[in-house]
Amino acid sequence: MTSENHPVAIIGAGPAGCCLACLLALRGIHCLVYDNDKRPGLMVGESLVPAVIPILRKLGIEERVAKISVSKPGASFFHASGTRVHLKFQKRGANQPGYAYNVPRPQFDNILRERAEELGVRFINHRAVVQKSTSSEREIELAPESLQAAGLDTTQHPRWLLDGSGRTRLFARTLDIDAQKGERFDVSYFAHFENFTHDEVEDGQIIISILNHGWSWRIPLQGKLSVGVVIDKNAAKLYGDTPEQRLEKIISTDPLLKEKSTNARRVSDVMVYTNYQLISKRSHGPGWMMLGDAFGFVDPMLSPGLFMALESARLLDDLVFSHGVPTSDEPAGVKQYGHDLLHWHHAWQELINYFYDGRILRMYEAGSKLAMDKGKWNPAKIMERHVQRVIQAMASGAATRSGYNRRLIDFTARRLIWDVPDAEFFSVKQ
Ligand SMILES: Cc1cc2nc3c(=O)[nH]c(=O)nc-3n(C[C@H](O)[C@H](O)[C@H](O)COP(=O)(O)OP(=O)(O)OC[C@H]3O[C@@H](n4cnc5c(N)ncnc54)[C@H](O)[C@@H]3O)c2cc1C
Repeated sequence: MTSENHPVAIIGAGPAGCCLACLLALRGIHCLVYDNDKRPGLMVGESLVPAVIPILRKLGIEERVAKISVSKPGASFFHASGTRVHLKFQKRGANQPGYAYNVPRPQFDNILRERAEELGVRFINHRAVVQKSTSSEREIELAPESLQAAGLDTTQHPRWLLDGSGRTRLFARTLDIDAQKGERFDVSYFAHFENFTHDEVEDGQIIISILNHGWSWRIPLQGKLSVGVVIDKNAAKLYGDTPEQRLEKIISTDPLLKEKSTNARRVSDVMVYTNYQLISKRSHGPGWMMLGDAFGFVDPMLSPGLFMALESARLLDDLVFSHGVPTSDEPAGVKQYGHDLLHWHHAWQELINYFYDGRILRMYEAGSKLAMDKGKWNPAKIMERHVQRVIQAMASGAATRSGYNRRLIDFTARRLIWDVPDAEFFSVKQ
């Protein structure tokens, strides 16, 4: 076997790694995927946005995903004061439907992996080890034991290494690449429940509600509800000593959750996630590139993670591999790739900030007052409907990066709101 046989090795068989492996295989580019096949029974990343669907269709797996999922019409945001915002996804063009899916993550990942296997991708059941390289061709290389695990010797090193290792950030750690960290210091606890009532919204709709020191998610899955809380690390200590105690206490004392959880039964372990807000300072170098969470993740609010994992694979395929396996150290398209990734992450962060700092809830509160005005030709009402559609399109991933949309909601939030409490009132407190 030579490096020409497998010019690309991907580390990590998560959504980013498997999606890229499928896209390259569809182009006839063979790759190896390293994965140690150790996946927890429960993982975050259960709620998708509609912009994922065109990618699932391109991979030919939407029907398989639909079978294990619950269809998600949108997302609702609840504030203890009674303010409720319902975002409903709208169909956009032929390819993007007005829905997304809520998926059990391990099964979702398995579908992607199965599809890659069908397309001829070779999986190496091994936790890849990498090291800084002394070769002029590449900055990072597979350690001898990882080459050996794939049946390769040092003369057969793959031309490109792609880091899809998620929050392990394998290449960034090995190459000491710094990351820009987010502003929040949250911890997240989550589990699956049966008999947790979910009757305030349309079937499949997810609910985000504002807690005293953070926020919670409720994601309907087949036969279960995924309930998670995202809370300031210090405030979490007020709710008990263990993750189980903390999750239970928050649910049983929060005014919006306690009544719905009276008969609820936890049917999984409680999982814990911390320190997840970061964006790497580099996305590529000689012989390597990063994708998915290995490059960056901004925040779980609005569920951009899985989309960004798949979109980063799509961008790499489109911008860097569309003419075959690149031979130069700085291939055409790789700078654009890094630029597009940053642009995406910044756009998501900007939109998510409107939810954290209360501006979105304030806008909707003002909008619902306008809606009560019975006059037909009220221009403020027409504007309000337009702004709502814009926010829905941004949250769906279809128009998140649009300059017009970003300027419009900025202007609306600053200039067109009156007669409602300040944004601070609706904000997510730490
Ligand atoms: C609290 C929280 C809630 C979230 N909720 C959502 C949500 O509702 N919706 C959403 O879309 N996103 C959500 N996310 C984000 C989402 O989970 C991630 O963005 C997504 O999993 C990223 O996919 P990935 O393929 O980049 O990485 P991962 O899914 O982490 O996959 C990486 C893979 O690489 C493997 N790996 C690591 N190191 C090695 C190695 N050395 N050798 C071989 N394999 C290796 C790992 O085992 C893993 O299988 C949430 C995140 C957090 C923190």
